[in-house]
Parts: sequence; C-alpha cells; structure tokens
Amino acid sequence: MGAVTPVGNSVGESWEALCSGQSGIGPITKFDAAAFDTRIAGELKGFDPLRYVTKRERRRYDDFIIFALAAAEMAVLDALARTMKMPFWRLYGEKPAPARTDITVVIGTPEQAFDFASFYRARGMKIFKIKVGIDYDNDLRRLAAVRRAAPKAEIFLDANCAWTVREARSFIRDLGRAGIRPSVLEQPVKKDDFGGLAALSRDFDFPVCADESLYSLRDAVRLLRAGVSGLNIKLMKLGLSQSLEVYRLARASGAKLMMGEMLESRLSSLCAAHFAAGLGGFDFIDLDTPLFIKDRVTAGFAGPGPDGIYDLAGVKAGIGAVPKIFAER
Ligand SMILES: [Mg+2]
Repeated sequence: MGAVTPVGNSVGESWEALCSGQSGIGPITKFDAAAFDTRIAGELKGFDPLRYVTKRERRRYDDFIIFALAAAEMAVLDALARTMKMPFWRLYGEKPAPARTDITVVIGTPEQAFDFASFYRARGMKIFKIKVGIDYDNDLRRLAAVRRAAPKAEIFLDANCAWTVREARSFIRDLGRAGIRPSVLEQPVKKDDFGGLAALSRDFDFPVCADESLYSLRDAVRLLRAGVSGLNIKLMKLGLSQSLEVYRLARASGAKLMMGEMLESRLSSLCAAHFAAGLGGFDFIDLDTPLFIKDRVTAGFAGPGPDGIYDLAGVKAGIGAVPKIFAER
C-alpha cells in the first residue's frame, strides 16, 4: 500500500491519524478561495515534492501527479515483495544484515537516565542514544549515569542542531575526561552549517552524521564534498529511491551511514529496518520508535525486541506487518 493524504504522507501516518479520529480538513491555503461558497478542503501538509521528482519535473507536473508518484513508490515496492512472496529486505539484498537498533534516552534527569538505561541493559540492549544540547552540565551528568548503568554499551549522541562548533568541541573534550567516547555524533550544529559539520568531522576520531542538514540527494552531494564524515538516511526525508541513491553515494565516498527515522509508525520503522538490512553496510541503526509506541492498529511482525534486534529472518512477505483491518479479512 501507499498513501499520501490530508492526514499523513505515508500509510502508517494516515492510518494512525484516522484511527485516532483526526480530520485533515481545514481552510484552503493553496489558492485564494474567497470567491467560492466553500473555503475548506483536505489539503496535504508538509509534503515535499522534491523528494520524489527533480526541480524541472516539479515545474511540469501539477501537485496531484507528484502525490501519486510518492504513494505509488511505497505501494509498488510493498506489493512487489508480497506478490513475489518475499520479504521486503530481499528487494535490496541477498540476505539480511543484522539490524540492531539503539534506544534513545529521552530528555530528563540523570537519575531517570540511569533507571532507563539499567532497565534496557538488563534486557540485552547494547546501544544507547542520548539527546544532548539542552543543558550542558546536565547532559554530562546524564551521560555519566548511562555509562554507570551500562558500562559496556555503545553511545550515540544527537545534538539536533543545538551547539556551535566550539560547544561541540568542548563537550566532547569534557566527555573524554569522564572516559566516554561516543561512536557517532549526530547533527551537532545548525542545519545550514555544512562547514561546521566538516570541521568537526576532521576534529573527531568518530563520525559526525548530518541529519537535519540532509533532505535531498543534492544535500548529500554537498555534504560529502564538504568533507562531512557521516549521513543519516531517513525514509520520510528522502523516500525509498532517493535514499538508495544517497546510500550508494555515501558508500562510494567512504562516509559512514546511519539509518534513522522521525517519530514514525511501526509500519515505516519496519520498512526502514528492511531497507537497511537488505542493503547492509549501515554503521548505525536508530529505529527504536516501535519500542515507544503502543500500537493497536497493526498486526504481524512487531519490530525489535527489548534487546534492539530486528529479527527479519522470520518475515515471509513484505515488511511483515499490515494494518490490523487487513489481517482480519
Ligand atoms: Mg537526529
């Protein structure tokens, strides 16, 4: 299935919005509707056509064509895998690479970070991602707490654009003094600061991954040319086919790769896990949303266990999960 609708730009998003009773109807914004009796309609929100077509095609096509292309891309690939009775990852490779996600330690106190990390460490989780950039000293204390709770775990950091180059350097230095070295640092500086990302990529002996800076194949080219050492691929930013192009480009230029996601539905997390496992070669996997959502709308494969492992070998067709309503038919 594929869907681009007024309540979401993917099947998962639309389905969950529908199940929670959301309406996509609102005042018309695409043209001046003052002269008409009806001034409300269901418009798409936050849809970026350049994820699916080039700028030149964008000028030739009306919006509805591009919406259809985006939905069709998702639908065709899922349907293809299902009719061939093969798992989705098989579209991208011979056998699935191990897919082990991190889990994000959400913003909070050091004590909360300690309890959270202890809970998941006891269940086999081996990678913790810590969001930083809100409060410098508290962030250092939270990291120390995670280190105490899970001394051998890998640490991913994500600053979500919050720092300057100087702050990033100083934070990593202070962290080093506490004996902590992250495996990767995501988006330390502002999204248009490609130079800052490149400078930090040269400074650190671990990759710096562009996330908010990367929204198209063009961005990827510019980031890699600037010397940025890692890219975070997310299907909702790039779509499947553009993600594949970014992947190939990054692999060819020796950059590190992260498979990430926004706050997405289980369906799209699974799709991303299949994509990453089928291709292989992802250095970092950040697909933990299924561990945080109470999902009453999909049936089938549930995603990662509490140890973070996506066991894709057991999936028989497509991504392995469907909206419950289809499973019941
Ligand atoms: Mg990020």
